[in-house]
Amino acid sequence: MKTKVLYYDSIDLLDFEAKVISCLKNKDGLYEIILDQTAFYPEVGGMQHDIGTIDNKEIIKVIKKDDIIIHLSNDKIENENVKAHINKEKRFTNIQAHDAQHLISAIMELDYDLFTVSHHTFDNYYDLVLEGPPLNDDMIRACESKANDLIMKHAQMIVEVLNKDTYLSRGLPYNEKYGDSIRLTNIEYLNDNNACGCLHFNNMDRLSLVNILNYEKVRNQYRIIFTSGIKLNELLHDYYDLFSNIKLKLKANEDNVLEKIDNLLEKNSNQHNEIMFLKNKLFKQEIDRLLTSSNKIVYVNNELSFEELKQISNIVINSDNKDVIAYLQLKNNDKYQFIIVKQKDNQTNLSEIFTNLKNHYDINGGGRGLVINGQSNEDLSNIIKEYL
Ligand SMILES: [Zn+2]
Repeated sequence: MKTKVLYYDSIDLLDFEAKVISCLKNKDGLYEIILDQTAFYPEVGGMQHDIGTIDNKEIIKVIKKDDIIIHLSNDKIENENVKAHINKEKRFTNIQAHDAQHLISAIMELDYDLFTVSHHTFDNYYDLVLEGPPLNDDMIRACESKANDLIMKHAQMIVEVLNKDTYLSRGLPYNEKYGDSIRLTNIEYLNDNNACGCLHFNNMDRLSLVNILNYEKVRNQYRIIFTSGIKLNELLHDYYDLFSNIKLKLKANEDNVLEKIDNLLEKNSNQHNEIMFLKNKLFKQEIDRLLTSSNKIVYVNNELSFEELKQISNIVINSDNKDVIAYLQLKNNDKYQFIIVKQKDNQTNLSEIFTNLKNHYDINGGGRGLVINGQSNEDLSNIIKEYL
């Protein structure tokens, strides 16, 4: 039996009564509640579903299959006649996201020939992806300003329900999925003609404000990040708290917070360079010490990172001793990572050494010229000297 839909009657209808048609457990362990009528908006048309309660049981998701609306809950509904309640904030933030998208998409299309190809919803902001001519800062600011002017002017969202013939007689683009009954939306002053079955405010002033936070070019498309209404307020609170925490941690105020961050970054960079310098000095001493007994060096240090091993290999490459050849190894998660490296004027063929080693041991890796990187399941440091 087709579910009678109440959400188009009024978006402010948040409490209603209904009769339970069925309440069956699905394969995911959730109860699928079907009512004779509902004001819960399901997840269709790119708009998020409502949440709320039926008979005081939490409704976590609402979907639509054919003409039946299914409310999903962890709990079983026992009563036949139930009272239902829709979460007001979720309902209105969903519509604010959707109507803000209508506004921005309409302005971008009408003023700049930029067409919306997709729209996504995140925690407290949204995005839409556009295709068309190049987008710039001035267009973004002008679009935001125009959207907010329309909000201030109380622009209405006019919704008409048209049959297919009437719709087509207006010369509007038709898609088979629209069916025979089409909900056509128009924002006053824009005449943007959208076929859209989602929920809308009847007046744009219920968005309060639209903010385009940022935009970026992604391949040949543009992605606009925006927010509106309740979520804009939440985002502002979040960002203000974050900013306050940053100031507190840096013992800074608004005027010098960036300067303090720059100082910190510079200090960090200087310290990093100093550490690199000291490490290099230490590694060089280590190599020089090993060179006093042989030109063929085997160096094992499991405390090091592979990056540090590479740093040592550079010392070997640039050594004054052209006979030096080194095997450097560290252990990482039960694997032995190694580098075989020679001084830059050394004539030894490292590929030959690696192939020979590979014939006897289960190793992988490779390289050419001065350096070979490899990995082994066993410790080669005790046998490597005979291969070098
Ligand atoms: Zn819509």
